[in-house]
Amino acid sequence: MWRCPKCRSSVDDSFGVCWSCGTTPDGIEDPNFVIADEADPIPSEEASEGTDVDDPLADFAGTPLPDLVACYTASDAAEARFIADELMEQGIPAIPDKLDVDSLVGMYGSGAKVRVRQDDLLRAQAWLKAYEDRRKSRQRIMPGT
Ligand SMILES: [Zn+2]
Repeated sequence: MWRCPKCRSSVDDSFGVCWSCGTTPDGIEDPNFVIADEADPIPSEEASEGTDVDDPLADFAGTPLPDLVACYTASDAAEARFIADELMEQGIPAIPDKLDVDSLVGMYGSGAKVRVRQDDLLRAQAWLKAYEDRRKSRQRIMPGT
């Protein structure tokens, strides 16, 4: 055990320099010594990837779409996607039907459903009612084609 001539810390003999300030027993300061607190923090691996991704569809991940119910039947896939986007903006996770076969849906005119969770159905329907009202009033205003 030796005592640092600079900062008076007790240093174990196994250390060649003071653990606190980097000074040798001879009083020579190490210009390269970095105090632990000032060194760059060791990056933590799990801190980098965000676990709180603000994705309303995250709840669906990894599960076979539990309790999804159709809340609306759009005239085509484009409208279904539009409505799903609008619902998402309301904080309601929504999935439009047939994302991969837009053309087929349009071709057969079967309509594309928008699906939401059972828990969100009432909220979605409330929004959709307002949406339909807006759409109807807009159609009334526009000259018929
Ligand atoms: Zn020291």
